[in-house]
Amino acid sequence: MLRIEGLFLELDGRPILGGLDLEVAAGEIHALLGANGTGKSTLAYTVMGLAGYRPQRGRIYFAGQDITDRSVTERARLGLTLAWQQPASFEGLTIKEYLEIARQGEGTSPAIAECLELVGLPPASYLHRTLNEHLSGGERKRVELAAVLAMAPKLAILDEPDSGIDVLSLEDIMEVIRRMNRAGTTVLLITHREEFARAAHRASHLCAGRVLKAGEPEEVVRFYKENCKRCDHVNEPELERLEEQR
Ligand code: ADP
Ligand code: MG
Repeated sequence: MLRIEGLFLELDGRPILGGLDLEVAAGEIHALLGANGTGKSTLAYTVMGLAGYRPQRGRIYFAGQDITDRSVTERARLGLTLAWQQPASFEGLTIKEYLEIARQGEGTSPAIAECLELVGLPPASYLHRTLNEHLSGGERKRVELAAVLAMAPKLAILDEPDSGIDVLSLEDIMEVIRRMNRAGTTVLLITHREEFARAAHRASHLCAGRVLKAGEPEEVVRFYKENCKRCDHVNEPELERLEEQR
């Protein structure tokens, strides 16, 4: 479904993706596991083709086509969707309207009310609410997940789908992901949490802009734990933890 070869991207003259290879098979939930700052969101934006994220080298293949030079609109039309770590806002639309737009043209996706229920938003209270500043970050994020469910894209890139959502457990969120997967969506689940990686079918480990290991989730999680402790790219929380152990 997705094949990335030798992806290299600099931002502000700094290499962020350093020759990244990644393969996501059709039908799977594939976790991309990596510590903070390793380039996970950057990869998501680059695959989606957002402005400012044009790779200097490497190719991206999606559903058999080379999409490296395609626009974000073309990628979306081919069936590629990104749910953001920081959700975008669509001010002014009601949630019902927003989900109806997302659901257009798809036969296999759940009904709008079911999409809302699956993300823990009672349809009766939410369908007619407007997307505006009165929604909390977590509610926005759940509406966005509902939109991905409604859309049933070929491939959904979910960037830290649990971030900002404190009312749904990891298992609840996994259930939403499994539901979209059953409806035919391949999922690239971006996370720094090993519990998410364990719940995926396959996983890849990202470190400093490169995939260092891919395979069975357990193996990848073990590699992540062992590797990240010795890695030069340890993030601040990890550094603090290491200091405490001394
Ligand atoms: P992650 O999502 O894995 O936490 P990001 O992809 O957000 O990581 O960031 C990876 C690295 O790239 C970080 O060191 C970050 O500071 C840097 N970075 C992100 N966006 C930009 C940008 N627009 N310009 C320069 N550096 C950036
Ligand atoms: Mg990120």
